[in-house]
Amino acid sequence: MQNVTLLGLGIMGTGMANNLLKAGFPLTIWNRTRSKAETFASQGARVAATPREAASEADVIISMVGDDNASRTVWLGDEGALAGAKSGAILVESSTLSPEWIHELADLAKKAGHPFLDAPVMGSKKSAAEGSLRYLVGGDATTLEQVRPILEKLGTEILHMGPTGAGETMKLINNMMGAVHIAAVSEGIVLAERAGLDMQQVVSIILNGPSASPMVKLKLDRMMTRNYDNTDFSLRWMQKDAGYAVELAKDYNLPLKTVEAAYEVLQMARDKGLDKADAAATVEGLRA
Ligand code: NAP
Repeated sequence: MQNVTLLGLGIMGTGMANNLLKAGFPLTIWNRTRSKAETFASQGARVAATPREAASEADVIISMVGDDNASRTVWLGDEGALAGAKSGAILVESSTLSPEWIHELADLAKKAGHPFLDAPVMGSKKSAAEGSLRYLVGGDATTLEQVRPILEKLGTEILHMGPTGAGETMKLINNMMGAVHIAAVSEGIVLAERAGLDMQQVVSIILNGPSASPMVKLKLDRMMTRNYDNTDFSLRWMQKDAGYAVELAKDYNLPLKTVEAAYEVLQMARDKGLDKADAAATVEGLRA
């Protein structure tokens, strides 16, 4: 079996680590906050002190961290995974990141002789825990076949989207739309509250009407009960995705006006300190 290294044990990485261990892969893990990694030691994972050390014996190195900055931190520098990766190790970046950074990272990997895939995922905490993620993969098809046995233990659908960056591009398209849906339902809810409508009726009409997208259905109950703990997907990462999408679209001369507006709505909630709350807390940015 291939030696696997996983960098990042947040909401998504935790479920992935559990499934890699369950599948029997020899697993090395690293997380910035070491205590999160140590809980896996009793299950047989090797806990490394740095990404470099974590990468040293791996055939496949998977990163699942927050944003471009986090990804730079885990891959680059003296203690980064690239410095430690053995010859020919395959690098898989599964975080949702900007295609601009993905191209830079793919170039660095190539120069160091490593095959590279961008492989962001669809599905949230529950799918990561169940192993039912959907992978959107960019990069060489042959490399994908080499890591497929691993990805199949983490997800139920492994989709090859095209060359490097294609996976992240598709992921950003999906998430920028999700950000718009969340911003729109937040505005709808707060307008209804201020207009003094019967909120039970409002919720029922929204949920049974044509604007009830899966995202709206997923988040409306949290918004009404003001339950933003036990985060599935954090507000700051949703905003990050909207921001990366806006930047990406500039390369294609496409203004994303609704996504830009959603970014601003998300910012109102971030200004209230809700960075790590579930993305449903977007509505609180608008509430008094
Ligand atoms: P999360 O729970 O916030 O975890 C973030 C992870 O990144 C943690 O391991 C964190 O380490 C690490 N990290 C953050 N900044 C870092 C830095 N500067 N240097 C090193 N490590 C850093 O996030 P998540 O929900 O697991 O999401 C991970 C990625 O998957 C994100 O790109 C997200 O957009 C994407 N994604 C999330 C979901 C979802 O529903 N949650 C679904 C699909 C894709 P610490 O533990 O030390 O903070």
